[in-house]
Amino acid sequence: MERLQKVIARSGICSRRKAEELILEGKVYVNGELCTTLGTKVSGNDEIEVDGKLLEFEDKVYYVINKPKGCICSSNDDRDRRTVLDYLDIPQRVYTVGRLDYDTSGVLLLTNDGDFCNQMIHPRYHLPKTYLVNLQGTLTQDDIRLLRKGLKTNIGDFQPAKVKVISNDVTRDRTIFELTIMEGKNHQVKNMMEALGHQVRKLHRVRFGSIEVNDLKPGEYRRLKPYEVKQLK
Ligand code: URA
Repeated sequence: MERLQKVIARSGICSRRKAEELILEGKVYVNGELCTTLGTKVSGNDEIEVDGKLLEFEDKVYYVINKPKGCICSSNDDRDRRTVLDYLDIPQRVYTVGRLDYDTSGVLLLTNDGDFCNQMIHPRYHLPKTYLVNLQGTLTQDDIRLLRKGLKTNIGDFQPAKVKVISNDVTRDRTIFELTIMEGKNHQVKNMMEALGHQVRKLHRVRFGSIEVNDLKPGEYRRLKPYEVKQLK
């Protein structure tokens, strides 16, 4: 059971404050009966009418955001850092599908669908995730061979990855390449690079399954189309 004004706000038609006003103004009916008491408890089975219209709840929602650098993925932080959820102006309460580091940018999915989220991050669910890696150091042919074969390191083993070198700047000792991995372990790309003796300068997730940010600027987001959600599942 939840408070009536909270349920009205969650449906997305107005803020909680406005919902309180509507209740007090006598514009809300619960199961056909006028309700002017703030805080009345209602459940998902109750029929709520606001201003002559029956409330409809959008069940599951799916978004993609181009996560900017400089924010975290969890909803709270003991260091008071900005969270990616601060960028959203949506009525639903969503959470991130897996995590990107504070300084990583790019494709991040958000949803209120717990089953979908668990499926996407389950280790047995091998959805390719592609990162654009800006590396301090030169990615050697040996490194590439090891990445493609699968890395065994003292901090864990990593399954074979795909590597596509985009540029190798020997004078500045930098390499830019795309790395596609099937797993989603914590700090995986940075740990893989560290195991090869390199440091990641910048990390951007280009693709999660078939989802890309396309023309979304950092901090911008959009709803996923139903066919895009289907493709991921
Ligand atoms: N790998 C990392 O090291 N960091 C990320 O944010 C994502 C993948």
